[in-house]
Amino acid sequence: MKNPSQSKSTLSVHAGSPGDTQFGGLVTPLFPAAAYDYHGGVRYPRYFNTPNHRAAAEKIAALENTEDALVFSSGMAAIFTAIMAQVKAGDHLVFQNDLYGGTHHAVVNELNRYGIAYTMVDASDLKNVENAIRKNTRAIYVETPSNPLLKITDLAGVVRIAKKYKLNTLIDNTFASPVNQNPADLGIDIILHSGTKYIGGHSDLMCGVVAASKKFIDPIRQSALHFGGNADANTCWLVERSLKTIVLRVRQQNENALQLATWLSANKKIAKVFYPGLKNHPGYAIAKKQMPGGFGGMLSFELKGDADKFIAKLELIKPAVSLGGVESTINQPHKTSHAKLTPAERKKVGISDKLVRLSVGIEDLEDIVRDIDSAI
Ligand SMILES: *Cc1c(COP(=O)(O)O)cnc(C)c1O
Repeated sequence: MKNPSQSKSTLSVHAGSPGDTQFGGLVTPLFPAAAYDYHGGVRYPRYFNTPNHRAAAEKIAALENTEDALVFSSGMAAIFTAIMAQVKAGDHLVFQNDLYGGTHHAVVNELNRYGIAYTMVDASDLKNVENAIRKNTRAIYVETPSNPLLKITDLAGVVRIAKKYKLNTLIDNTFASPVNQNPADLGIDIILHSGTKYIGGHSDLMCGVVAASKKFIDPIRQSALHFGGNADANTCWLVERSLKTIVLRVRQQNENALQLATWLSANKKIAKVFYPGLKNHPGYAIAKKQMPGGFGGMLSFELKGDADKFIAKLELIKPAVSLGGVESTINQPHKTSHAKLTPAERKKVGISDKLVRLSVGIEDLEDIVRDIDSAI
């Protein structure tokens, strides 16, 4: 849990890191045991309560300013477990329409089979969210900044609506990372991450996160015990280790992305730039308020020329799915994260074939700019 007198940089290093209490080593040892003495309580990896799991979860909870957290084996395991823990047959959910492709696909293909109805709305106008609420609605699910168009949803506004109708609120906070945006501070109930991205930060692990107060996390943990999906000890150890540098990494990514977005905006070969830190972005004012740490390391742009040729010419920036690593990567959402959407669904949310999405790394900005400049 957060020590209010400590800043995020200090918490990223020290919160939830017990170190080696036996020999005095500075680093939490890896405890791979899957079997524990049951006297004094049952510890078991699938119960989310083994030592490396607790260390990672406590550091995440400190950074998200929540009472507790759970670490799952993937972002989708965390997201879907959290969603299913909210509902029973006959219930209804409201989703923002521009979601991570995997979440979108899971909602469309899974929920109706269990008798759970849903409505997807453009949440950049909160009237759409309120209008979608029915008598049987249980929760509102948003993602901001969104993937891949970096749309901003007004979190304080979502919380106001949710309180009025007594609904739970969930957010996919992956793009912002806990460094830039802490939705719990604005009253959002359940915070989700693909920890594969900024939390891991080195493109070498897969995990998912649920962070919330005990009241919200207990029922999610209960469902998670049934579904499985916990991260293992090795992954949790690596998550705890990786989080010690998250503030440094994300600050550099924020700085690089803001400068790069500004440079791209002034480039005549670029048709459009999507970055919430640009003053002409429709969500700029809200982003500035709800993302006190920075606008993040993700940006998208539409080229005037051919995207395939442009990507083939890049040398430093690698074509890759996933994001949030220390290295800059680029991809085409219509071929990757949103390939499973029909062309009509993509058009509806505004994803064109000329759109490329850049995950800005921690390299020197000049090297990133030079690579893009020569490829254009
Ligand atoms: C990657 C991602 C996910 C899914 O996470 P996995 O770790 O791949 O399961 C969910 N939401 C967002 C925004 C993502 O970028």
